[in-house]
Amino acid sequence: MKEIIIIGAGLGGLSAACRLAKEGFSVTILEKNANVGGKVNTVEANGYKFDTGASLLTMRHVLEELFEFCGKRVEDYLEIVRLAPICRYFWSDETRFDAFSDTEKTEREIEKLAPEDVENFRKYLADSRRKYEIAARTFLSKSLNDLPELLTPKYLPDLLKISTTKTLDRHNAKYFRSPKLRQLFNRFATYNGSSPYETPATFALIPHVEFGLGAWYVRGGMYEIPRALEKLARELGVKIRAESAVENIVIENQKAVGVRANGETFRADFVISNSDAIETYRNLIERKNRRIFTDAKLEKREPSCSGFVLLLGTKKKFPQLAHHNIFFSDDYKAEFDAIFKHKTPAADPTIYICATSVSDPTQAPAGNENLFVLINAPYTNEKVDWEKEKRDYRNLIVKKLESFGLEDLENSIDYEQIITPADFEHKYNANRGSIYGVSSNGIFSAFLRVPNKARDIENLYFTGGATHPGGGIPLVLLSGKMAAEMIARS
Ligand SMILES: Cc1cc2nc3c(=O)[nH]c(=O)nc-3n(C[C@H](O)[C@H](O)[C@H](O)COP(=O)(O)OP(=O)(O)OC[C@H]3O[C@@H](n4cnc5c(N)ncnc54)[C@H](O)[C@@H]3O)c2cc1C
Repeated sequence: MKEIIIIGAGLGGLSAACRLAKEGFSVTILEKNANVGGKVNTVEANGYKFDTGASLLTMRHVLEELFEFCGKRVEDYLEIVRLAPICRYFWSDETRFDAFSDTEKTEREIEKLAPEDVENFRKYLADSRRKYEIAARTFLSKSLNDLPELLTPKYLPDLLKISTTKTLDRHNAKYFRSPKLRQLFNRFATYNGSSPYETPATFALIPHVEFGLGAWYVRGGMYEIPRALEKLARELGVKIRAESAVENIVIENQKAVGVRANGETFRADFVISNSDAIETYRNLIERKNRRIFTDAKLEKREPSCSGFVLLLGTKKKFPQLAHHNIFFSDDYKAEFDAIFKHKTPAADPTIYICATSVSDPTQAPAGNENLFVLINAPYTNEKVDWEKEKRDYRNLIVKKLESFGLEDLENSIDYEQIITPADFEHKYNANRGSIYGVSSNGIFSAFLRVPNKARDIENLYFTGGATHPGGGIPLVLLSGKMAAEMIARS
């Protein structure tokens, strides 16, 4: 039986592990932390449950297909529920807007906000769907190693249809007259950790993913996803060794033959790294073996944005909150300039709150709320010392939420934890604390990612947000599928 070693039990690693075990390989995952899940993680304290990473599940069919492939039904492991509204948006002038998967309901909201944009919204969603369908049959179903195939007449015309030098912001400005709707649809750039003023309009496909395919929550919290995948993996015979940080990948004659962890060598026929692909090259592979990804090249791959997170348990409910909420900044452009150009925290940040307690009573004591507060933040750099700045930034955010009507938030806080970009970097070996891997702030960025199969080292593969097709739960699950399929075919 061929041996597979996987570095890291994030969702990309778990996805590859389950598939390869099902295909008859002997699979071992070495995970540096005490529990699986990576950036989909959890904190339980004082009767509150918080997801500390991903809070929204999209493209649920990807998760379903993984269970099906393994001969199981996702319903036997997870209770996945549709959210309505998907998200509640707030602006400082007290405008509120609810977005639904039910298009008619969203159109009624647009009718109230900007009636002249109802027809534009329909056209926008139709275009978004067309873009998604093209991406689904090209980019999302082929690995970057298949690039020569993607450039043949079978796929190229499709790819050209969705390739553009136009930014998402310019695309949205063309469709929407309302600056608020333009801001709302610009926000989808953050679903891959990028800036709407730099990411290509190709990513106008994301609204179809949310409005058309649906927005989902998992009863009990999002951490149920890695928990279920761990169960599935163990049922299929995968061995998971926690608290086993891999120190380096053993390479002989430009071929990966195992890894070293806790002073032990684990030999393998194939090695898959689910640790951030950039960090894997930088820290786990000796320079002499890096024929393509030199230090200089790695430095050029811009990390996605990071996140500044507050976990707040509150002794009261905030009835104005939906499950997902966005409190917009007044100047979106200035916010992204701060994050990506100046690499400093935005002075007036857009604030996202996920309150799973709104739809799931298991998440907080009765009468209380569990607020997961997330602000897009710059990846770690020498300009920001988060240890020094985190308290002031936390205070600014709490004050801003109070100004948006979350009355007496400060005094109602009963449990609190701050997670900074530096924490994401150290806890998960995420490149500069990036939460989605590498950014998509450029027309060629998607093609410059580390591919799922190393081009310079035999038998070495990658899964996760910094490889193809990108960050976010469904995409990292797909990266696991691509790596597993290539190994099974080899
Ligand atoms: C705050 C936040 C909010 C998010 N919101 C959403 C959302 O709403 N919806 C969505 O779809 N996505 C969201 N994401 C993104 C999504 O969570 C990630 O893209 C995805 O979970 C990353 O999976 P991965 O496969 O890249 O592995 P990772 O999560 O990066 O896990 C890698 C694993 O490898 C381990 N590891 C690293 N180095 C080593 C080593 N040397 N030895 C052993 N183990 C190692 C790490 O400890 C970790 O467990 C969010 C992320 C964050 C942080």
